[in-house]
Amino acid sequence: MISFGPVPSRRLGKSLGINNIIRPKVCSYSCVYCQVGQTRNPTLTRQLFFTPEQIFRETESHLGKLSPGDRPDYLTFVSNGEPTLDINLGRSIDMLRSLDVPIAVITNSSMLSDPEVRSELSRADWVSLKVDAADANTWQEVNRPVEGLAFDTLLEGVMLFAGQYKGKLRTETLLCKGINDSQENLRGVAAIITAMKAGKAYISVPIRPPAEKGIMPPGVETVNIAWQIFREAGINTELLTGFEGVDTGFTGNIYEDILNITAVHPLREDSLRELLMKNGADFSIVESLLSQRLIKRTFYEGHKFYLRDFQVK
Ligand code: SF4
Repeated sequence: MISFGPVPSRRLGKSLGINNIIRPKVCSYSCVYCQVGQTRNPTLTRQLFFTPEQIFRETESHLGKLSPGDRPDYLTFVSNGEPTLDINLGRSIDMLRSLDVPIAVITNSSMLSDPEVRSELSRADWVSLKVDAADANTWQEVNRPVEGLAFDTLLEGVMLFAGQYKGKLRTETLLCKGINDSQENLRGVAAIITAMKAGKAYISVPIRPPAEKGIMPPGVETVNIAWQIFREAGINTELLTGFEGVDTGFTGNIYEDILNITAVHPLREDSLRELLMKNGADFSIVESLLSQRLIKRTFYEGHKFYLRDFQVK
């Protein structure tokens, strides 16, 4: 099956997934946290998987079966591997255009030194680039790239694409405990994202079984620090820590509101108290959420922050 969903996505609303690489995973990376297992033969060679006609026919037929209320906000290339390794990605995007649904691509950024890949990706309306590391050693440790790919080349491709892309540019940084969650790496990643002028950066953590044993999400405190570092660099930042709340705005239900807001970003205690006051609620709700381990209190620069406790199972 090439298309699947639509699935709810905080980043994209209703997203109809397109898996343009259905066969054992094909990727240029073998990330330690990958949820589809290790990459047996990492590659930088673009290949033929499906024809654009096959992708178009299946997606068109899938859309035709959906009720009007399920019409997706995006058709999203999210693959069993790296979508830009599909030699027909650009042609597929061009064909899907006629379906009149915006197109998104989630890529690991590794192929962006290729001008043809940059040109094909630039035809999508929304592109998310992976930026997990700010230096070659951390990159090797977390993303385990195919031999022959250099960090400087990767970075150059990322900057060239960011400079030319006219659509919605996003980044995703997945943090693994003790691997890429140091403040030094976080500041370096923030500097890269700032230079890219991405509209929004997402910070995520492993929430499904990773490719390698022992890969853990960092603590809530570290995620808070990461968010603060990004925000201090002027980056519009959201957390993707596993809680895809149906609504991240105000629902009028203070309990739901606190859970939704703290899933997306840490809430400073003074803002939280203001929210409670506006809703005629008192701090006992917060104490209750803390005791249920639905949120966690953490500290940064002399302030208390509250954040969804994503480590609760
Ligand atoms: S880039 Fe994506 S598919 Fe490839 S190894 Fe990393 S997480 Fe898995």
